Amino acid sequence: MTANPFRVDALDVATGHPIEVLPGVYEVRESLAPAFDTPECWVSLYILTDPTGHARPAIIDTGVPRSTDTVILPALAALGFAPSDLEVAVCSHSHHDHAGSNVQLRDATGCAIWIGRRDGPALLRGDRFGDDVIPPHEADRLLDGGEVITLAGRTYEVVDLPGHSPGSIGLYDRERHVFFTGDALQARGTTTQGVPGAADRPSYRRSIAATRALTIEHLFPAHPYLPFPSSHVTPATEVTRYLDTCLDAIDSIDPRILDALRHEGGSANIDAIARHVCAEFAAVPVLAAPILGGYLAQLAEAGHVRRDGDHWVIA
Ligand SMILES: [Zn+2]
Repeated sequence: MTANPFRVDALDVATGHPIEVLPGVYEVRESLAPAFDTPECWVSLYILTDPTGHARPAIIDTGVPRSTDTVILPALAALGFAPSDLEVAVCSHSHHDHAGSNVQLRDATGCAIWIGRRDGPALLRGDRFGDDVIPPHEADRLLDGGEVITLAGRTYEVVDLPGHSPGSIGLYDRERHVFFTGDALQARGTTTQGVPGAADRPSYRRSIAATRALTIEHLFPAHPYLPFPSSHVTPATEVTRYLDTCLDAIDSIDPRILDALRHEGGSANIDAIARHVCAEFAAVPVLAAPILGGYLAQLAEAGHVRRDGDHWVIA
């Protein structure tokens, strides 16, 4: 049996054990189970600390609703911090695995919650994902992109990265060439997706271009995005390969969908399309069909396919 290249990394999932990935940057991994029972895919939260001890710590993303208890408070304690030391949580975007524990974390620590302005309304609406409930809540600060903020004593530029969600943001440390990107740039998608999730592809392409304009030595997406085995992409040549993969994956998705339809004789339901597009996976990733459904709706709008009951047909 071939060794799973992701498995060693996955052993640290959801232990609350902070892994120092750069001085003052600690990765804390949370499992996505039970919504996604895949040890190869986790969400990475990043605790930022001041090695001089002067500034209070901050965190990027709050994980799923349980994450305050399962990983964030244990990780802060392991680093020698009291809950009340946490100054701010910056959410890369509003989805359940990134802003899911905002309410619990703010209650437990008193930290402020910041998020991109165009994802603010999603927090106000609240959300449910399987058994995970995110109660409606309001951020303490809405970021537009272009701000220069200080987290744990370091300066970060807020970069607007729409496409996956309207208010996705990245945090750029220009001095150390470090960029935290949440789910804004997805290479070929996670093992739970099989395809990248870009609801707004023109914006997504502009976000890739905006990222290319930055000098980046360490890219920290919030999940391991295929074909990269980890949520830490380095050095700069690997970051370039990552961005090339992002663009290629998004540009090839329509041809792959149309190929799948032709393979099925010009008409197929979403499950058959997903099976064909995700043929490289032993089992079709659980999110592939819903994501592909979004792309098919766009192909229908552009007149390339039409819907016939539960089948999609080449127009
Ligand atoms: Zn995510």
